[in-house]
Amino acid sequence: MTPDVRPHEKLDRAVIFLGPPGAGKGTQAKELARRFSVPHLSTGDMLREHVAQGTSLGQRAQPIMARGDLVSDSIVLRMVADRIERPDCARGFVFDGFPRTVAQAQWLGALLRQHGFKPPLVIHMVIDPGLLLRRITGRRMCKVGGEIYNIYERPPKVAGHCDNDGGELEQRADDREEIVGPRLAAYEKQTAPLAAYYRRLGRLRDIDASKSVDEVAKLIVEVVSAARQP
Ligand code: ADP
Ligand code: AMP
Repeated sequence: MTPDVRPHEKLDRAVIFLGPPGAGKGTQAKELARRFSVPHLSTGDMLREHVAQGTSLGQRAQPIMARGDLVSDSIVLRMVADRIERPDCARGFVFDGFPRTVAQAQWLGALLRQHGFKPPLVIHMVIDPGLLLRRITGRRMCKVGGEIYNIYERPPKVAGHCDNDGGELEQRADDREEIVGPRLAAYEKQTAPLAAYYRRLGRLRDIDASKSVDEVAKLIVEVVSAARQP
């Protein structure tokens, strides 16, 4: 059981989830956003939506995502800038999969200052790399509501269908074993340096993401609550 958030408690800042693919960022970011009633902003979900709808942005991003590389900063930054302008972001938001390069982080810092937000809090999901392959290849997502399952670790009650809305579960195109290597390499090269970047700024909090979903959620709520103390 994780401590409940009282209704008057507000997030009032951006929380960033940083960690390799499969670390559990989406699972925990969704949960934290729900607790604080703020939006969960996954750049991966936004990009997959563009791909599914066949927009021109989606057509540019699709081959890059399919081979496990990062899409260009300019595509992602435009998408994020448009999204955080919306009124539901006024009380804070939870980023999952963004920023992913130092350039994105620098740009985000400037944007948050411009919008009057406090400096972000970065949840660094530290995990035994040996756990990642099973988490990634076992991942299934609901086509309707985006709920995240794992056929090995967190199976749905009825195989192939979402517990919440009965939606069909699907495997992400990039969750096949042969794409996992390139994705982890992109993380190590382009995204892992962000840990040092945010640590220097005093914004990084390490969380042991190898533990169970409930244990990780509890650690995260403790860290976020401590950061919100005056
Ligand atoms: P990320 O967003 O970091 O790529 P996800 O949140 O999508 O990661 O989780 C990756 C997979 O691992 C999913 O199938 C999810 O159900 C599962 N998972 C997430 N957290 C845990 C955990 N603490 N223990 C076991 N499995 C987990
Ligand atoms: P994710 O759902 O976070 O695992 O992201 C899936 C894919 O979308 C990544 O492998 C990248 O190709 C792309 N992507 C998501 N977020 C970003 C980002 N912030 N910068 C660049 N590419 C991204």
